Amino acid sequence: MNTVTAFYPVGTPGQPWGASERAQWLQRQVVQRSHADEVVAKIDALRERFDVTQYGELDYPSGRYPLLAVRSRNWNDALPVMLVTGGVHGYETSGVQGALQFIDQHAADYADRCNLLVVPCVSPWGYERVQRWNALALDPNRSFVQNSPAPESAALMALVAPLKGQIVMHIDLHETTDTDESEFRPALAARDGKPFEPGEIPDGFYLVDDSENRQPVFQQAVNAEVVKVTHLAPADARGEIIGSPVVALGVIEYPLKALGLCASVSGARYTTTTEVYPDSPKATPQQCNDAQVAAVIGALEFALSNG
Ligand SMILES: [Zn+2]
Repeated sequence: MNTVTAFYPVGTPGQPWGASERAQWLQRQVVQRSHADEVVAKIDALRERFDVTQYGELDYPSGRYPLLAVRSRNWNDALPVMLVTGGVHGYETSGVQGALQFIDQHAADYADRCNLLVVPCVSPWGYERVQRWNALALDPNRSFVQNSPAPESAALMALVAPLKGQIVMHIDLHETTDTDESEFRPALAARDGKPFEPGEIPDGFYLVDDSENRQPVFQQAVNAEVVKVTHLAPADARGEIIGSPVVALGVIEYPLKALGLCASVSGARYTTTTEVYPDSPKATPQQCNDAQVAAVIGALEFALSNG
């Protein structure tokens, strides 16, 4: 009989999880930080300058959370809409804090040029638990699909739906972390009853373009701002980053819609997903937030000039 080394502490190798394995996984997830203190309080502090709306609520037995969006004041239907999302993966801290920093320090610069819609933390349950999945052990960033089973994704899709056709640019703020390789990829393989194939985490920033709607000049414009703050990820020995061919320095491509990824949610002409590397010995948390802000600014300036 073959023995298969267990690579994840929940479930049996080769067998997809059922309800009891999901419950075991859920029990392992503990609150490590406060959405109320680190996100809601910062959004509340923006209410004097921006319009804040609650577009939904997560209601899990393990926690209830408001879903909050920040909009430009004096919304003008004659202007293009620009969408910024963070915290689709709750553990990717700089996506959340970078979005908040962008609003606080830079959003006012875009008044009269576009309407900004910023959702700093799509997945608050995951933010508190420093977790990639939601409480149902689903990845919100594979769940931007019709009749989504992930309430985080469904709520964002409902928020954006009335604006389709008006959104010119959407930037979705993420990180690629060492824990992707040590925790989240093993968890995914275990959940789905698949073998875990080790990979490499790149040291540096990169972007994900849409292979069904390539915008290489836009990606270059975003990276040109980011390199003022942090370094781009080199390709690995196979010319890839996390298993995808590097199409330009610091750029890979995915079919966004087929994978149910957040950056497909708006149908915008210009879309990108940022991937900050927070575990680099060369990068501080503030630098990671600054890299996200630089990416947002690069994306906005390009879209405003080329809309
Ligand atoms: Zn992510």
